[in-house]
Amino acid sequence: MDVGLSYKQKRPDGAFDAIVIGSGMGGLTAAAALAKQWKKRVLVLERHYTAGGFTHAFTRPGYEWDVGVHYIGQVGPGGALRAPYDWLTDGALDWAKLPDVYDRVYLGDRAYDYVSGTKRFIQQMKSYFPGEEAAIEKYVALVKSAARSGTTFAVDRTLPKLASRLLGPLLRAPQMRYASRTTREVLMELTRNEELIAVLTAQFGDYGLPPSKSSFAIHAMVAAHYLGGGYFPVGGASAIARSVAPVIERAGGQIFINADVKEIIIEDGRAVGVRMADERELRAKIIISDAGAVNTYERLLPRSHEDKGVERALARVGSSVSYVCLYLGMKHTDSELGLTGTNMWIYPDHDHDGNFARLMSEPSADAYLDGKTQLPLVYISFPSAKDPTWKDRHPGRATVDVIAPARYEWFAAWEKTRWKKRGADYDALKAKLTERILDVTFAKLPQLRGKIDFAELSTPLTTKHFAGYEKGELYGLDHSPERYRMKMRAETEIPGLYLTGQDLVSCGVSGAMFGGLLTATAIAGPRALIAAMRR
Ligand SMILES: Cc1cc2nc3c(=O)[nH]c(=O)nc-3n(C[C@H](O)[C@H](O)[C@H](O)COP(=O)(O)OP(=O)(O)OC[C@H]3O[C@@H](n4cnc5c(N)ncnc54)[C@H](O)[C@@H]3O)c2cc1C
Repeated sequence: MDVGLSYKQKRPDGAFDAIVIGSGMGGLTAAAALAKQWKKRVLVLERHYTAGGFTHAFTRPGYEWDVGVHYIGQVGPGGALRAPYDWLTDGALDWAKLPDVYDRVYLGDRAYDYVSGTKRFIQQMKSYFPGEEAAIEKYVALVKSAARSGTTFAVDRTLPKLASRLLGPLLRAPQMRYASRTTREVLMELTRNEELIAVLTAQFGDYGLPPSKSSFAIHAMVAAHYLGGGYFPVGGASAIARSVAPVIERAGGQIFINADVKEIIIEDGRAVGVRMADERELRAKIIISDAGAVNTYERLLPRSHEDKGVERALARVGSSVSYVCLYLGMKHTDSELGLTGTNMWIYPDHDHDGNFARLMSEPSADAYLDGKTQLPLVYISFPSAKDPTWKDRHPGRATVDVIAPARYEWFAAWEKTRWKKRGADYDALKAKLTERILDVTFAKLPQLRGKIDFAELSTPLTTKHFAGYEKGELYGLDHSPERYRMKMRAETEIPGLYLTGQDLVSCGVSGAMFGGLLTATAIAGPRALIAAMRR
């Protein structure tokens, strides 16, 4: 079942209480919460040809890949996030557990497993690093307490300006103790063992900044999120949007795809609607942007309402790293190929910061094309092995996603060209990058050699084309200490205009989902949030 109506074929019917720009997890959640708790009629407008934002999946003959969902934590039985997902989808979304070893980390040739369950994780790490027992215990305790401290920080995001000015410092303080420091600073107080630090921060690809640049708050949130193991939506990533959409539609809401919003309409200082790319105006009292903070402030607001203060703050935070993803398809089953749901994090060595800094200073991809310098991180995920319905939906086939950070600048020369028609030189660069990424993949999965039936590389230009992120960034705003100092709230300075999604709290499907719940709370009060979190 496809989600949404096409704006190319149909127009929204009647009046809406709210318009949501973007159908990512944040936008769908805000829309569903308003629909479910307050019976609001919400119109969701999505520029892509499919709904779900980074939770969408795409197909090629015989194959299907997810884009931005490889695992989600805390959604197993009794997990802290199971309740809100059940609430949002009326229980329509099921989850399949990844294997007990949900992440396998390689530092060069040395492999380390992340095992589900806090106690087992601690035991496993202690077995790798004798003599570091106290540091490991202390690390896990710190991660848990920093993650817990995010609750009141999030509440501040829902407050109106005045209340936030009065209460904000108090609400933000517990998390700021952790958020204002880098992950490396915090870990260096626990141990000087660089290999251990590298292993404990090996999920940094989940938030896009290496240890000396990332805020410890995001590190702790992600690490705590997965301690109980990883889960995958049954039916694939697109099952998420498929199960939230009916909740929006039952309250009279509509979701439109191919619906590109050009501008937010402001009248008498208030957001009153949106202007579409075809110049049609659609109006509602509440406008919610899930298009990302940078897009909202720098591209969707009319220049007459630009807010230089916010734009400067966003520039100080900066956008997260861009990436390439190699989508592979094989005419074999996962069991024939020996593939499981365990994610692989492949690093050349333990120097995450040095390797990442080098990438960020390379003006072109050339340094990585001869195969002598390794990419700072290659992440491999196995969607077909994770989804129990895959075997029936795509018998005899398997898929693999291989992601590597990359700079937008490497591809900027082609930014004015059209998708699929960017020219032979662009295709040649993609072919060389594909070869390099395959080298890394085959080194760990030699059984795939000679079995690849389909391979397609997405670049930051692909992400820009489909999701609208200007530099094809992975996770919206960067998760640096500076981001946590920026006082962003769901309610903007413009009455009637709200922000939602990953830029409000944190990246991740659940971070964006939580952003959606906070936005609904800022608009209509805490009832939805309370109902969603109640078991
Ligand atoms: C490669 C990759 C892997 C990831 N892996 C994981 C993972 O394993 N687990 C996890 O929890 N998270 C993962 N994430 C992160 C997670 O997917 C995102 O943080 C989250 O889905 C973001 O949701 P969002 O609602 O904020 O925004 P998005 O999903 O980005 O949605 C925003 C939507 O707004 C639309 N839009 C933008 N501008 C306009 C406009 N002008 N008009 C109309 N529509 C517009 C876009 O097309 C897009 O659909 C991954 C992300 C990526 C990129």
